[in-house]
Amino acid sequence: MRTIFPQNAAEEDVFIYLSDAHIRNLVGPRWKIGEARRMRCAGNMALLANARLWFRAEQRREPTMAELITGGYLGKNTPLCPDHGAYEIDGNGIPHCSLHNRPGLLTPVAEVPLEKVTSEEAEQYSAFVANYNRYWTRFFDPIGIRVKMGRDIRIQTCILPLIENSWYDGLAAFSGRTAGSLSESVVLPRTVMSLRGHMAPEWLQHTDLVRKLADRNQLNLSWLGDEISLNLCDGQVLFSVGGSAMGLLGHEVGRSSSLEPLVIGYLGSALNLPTYLAVKVTDPKKAEQSIPALFSALGPRHSRDGELSVETYSLENHHGKPLYVANFTLWVVKLRLYSAVVDDRLVIASRRDIVTDLMDSSARGGRARVVNNEGNMEMSLYRSAFKQLEEVVNLGYQEEVRRACHRNLPLAAILLKNLALPADHFAAETAALRGYSPYCPSGGNYQLDPASGAVTCSVHGNRYRPRQPESGDQNSATLKLVNSLERVNARLSFTPEGLMTTVDIRRKAE
Ligand SMILES: [Zn+2]
Ligand SMILES: [Zn+2]
Repeated sequence: MRTIFPQNAAEEDVFIYLSDAHIRNLVGPRWKIGEARRMRCAGNMALLANARLWFRAEQRREPTMAELITGGYLGKNTPLCPDHGAYEIDGNGIPHCSLHNRPGLLTPVAEVPLEKVTSEEAEQYSAFVANYNRYWTRFFDPIGIRVKMGRDIRIQTCILPLIENSWYDGLAAFSGRTAGSLSESVVLPRTVMSLRGHMAPEWLQHTDLVRKLADRNQLNLSWLGDEISLNLCDGQVLFSVGGSAMGLLGHEVGRSSSLEPLVIGYLGSALNLPTYLAVKVTDPKKAEQSIPALFSALGPRHSRDGELSVETYSLENHHGKPLYVANFTLWVVKLRLYSAVVDDRLVIASRRDIVTDLMDSSARGGRARVVNNEGNMEMSLYRSAFKQLEEVVNLGYQEEVRRACHRNLPLAAILLKNLALPADHFAAETAALRGYSPYCPSGGNYQLDPASGAVTCSVHGNRYRPRQPESGDQNSATLKLVNSLERVNARLSFTPEGLMTTVDIRRKAE
């Protein structure tokens, strides 16, 4: 690992090495069974904590362990510590195990001896081993992590990839098992997200989709290069699509060899936000001549009424360069895509000004500043380009925060309403009960509203009367962090050593 990440390198502030012995330990029976017992004991202590609250609600005083058992508060089968620790309830009403300590402060696995296991535990462990071996057949491989701290943060990891994993194999087949060059040449100042990939030439030749496309339309793709990028620009959002939609789309594409779901999906996103696709070309002239054929290949073979159809024409020259338009009709919706070859990239965009901006930037010699990274896949998020999108992102983020806050309400209702606990005891009481202190991410307080008798958050209300602030508290730690970002870049490379990932976080100057 030190030959990959050399010692005393300038880009190293933190180095974490997970040796193969360490990984063996983590997946070995000593650790796995010890950890399972510890979790079962923690579950038992949560049960004891609930029984104690029940006792207190009825008797208005703290119980002893014996009173919980004899009073039937623990049901017929009193919970037993799997390591034979003894349970006790301390003076503050917090459950305690003589071996595993207490919720939130559990004894480390290595400090609880493990000598014998039950046949059930042995069986469960063999099932885990069988499952593990399906992914890692031969090795336990070390993992190295290197971190550079400061205003800009860089995190690099080197791991041996999962051996039989369809996601990994698919990616390696698409991108090839060696790294290529990934260029930011088509990134505009208003680009908010860019996904770049290196394409293996073998993938292009052997993929059904590409082969069929070429055969069916006598399309000659010999000009196609080895880089592709999908980019998203800042803009007004008309509708937002849940994350599952992309997953569904991906499923469709994976299954059928038809382009239609992919084309309709792209058109759908283009309708919403300005997007563009760019592929590297080895022969710009040939690529340009192929644009009309390429567009007609995207449409269906025989167009019927009311289905997807496409026509292509070329628009007036922009500074002596032709610009092509594809006109898609789907039912009653008409959508246009614009295309041109800019330098060594074939660009297909949902708005004309994206293509003309790229042409203008190329005419001004914009390529001089271009960053080229080595890798197989790269994703960049340009935080500072968020202008019109900012509002939507903020609103979406505040909705997530509100939902997270409301998840604490059922527990708050039990403690504050049913057990009449003072509001300021809620966090501490839950820490004893569950091992964590619940809080509102926006700094709200949970209170019992005397008028309605319901427990509410002072910022977010409750499920029946939800509220949320228009924008988050700019002084909250989370928002401060998000606002300080300028860009985030994540890169994945296949190297002879294994899978290398690099995350670069660039922050704004103070
Ligand atoms: Zn225990
Ligand atoms: Zn709240």
